[in-house]
Amino acid sequence: MDFELFMHLALDEARKGADEVPVGALLVDDKGEIVASAHNLREAKNDPTAHAELEVLRAAADLSGDWRFEGTTLFVTLEPCVMCAGAIREARISRVVFAAWNEVSGASGSVYDVLRDPRLGKTIEVIPGVLENEASTLLSRYFKSVRETKLSSQKYESEWSEGKGMDNHPCEIAFDNEKLD
Ligand SMILES: [Zn+2]
Repeated sequence: MDFELFMHLALDEARKGADEVPVGALLVDDKGEIVASAHNLREAKNDPTAHAELEVLRAAADLSGDWRFEGTTLFVTLEPCVMCAGAIREARISRVVFAAWNEVSGASGSVYDVLRDPRLGKTIEVIPGVLENEASTLLSRYFKSVRETKLSSQKYESEWSEGKGMDNHPCEIAFDNEKLD
């Protein structure tokens, strides 16, 4: 399976989410066929659970009429969080390939390792860092543009000076820094 090819498609998905933290996901079956693709829709749906991974699982279950995904590979542009890693286990996905690490709240090998914790049953194969630079750059550019937009407003400037200007999304903390540029 060409991991980079599918990750490029997941990155294309991530870029579709206007005004969203750019994260894209793709579910691919054991024959290399794409089952479904999705991106983060948290803002559009006003739903804290609308991460790219959960959106792709919902889409794939709708399309296939089944919630079990043994033998599939999930591609996602950012290391899955605790919620998504739990859902990936529930969906019985066999393998996860991700691009950027989330050192602040990742649950697939950085902070936690929910996917490979044997206490939760059968472990899931994890392949990290595929097109990591592309995904990290996409995220850091997004947060930089959000910060610049917010800084242009007077209200935000006063909040920023009080140190509460950002909404403290874990991805934001991880990627809102200059060294990733
Ligand atoms: Zn998540």
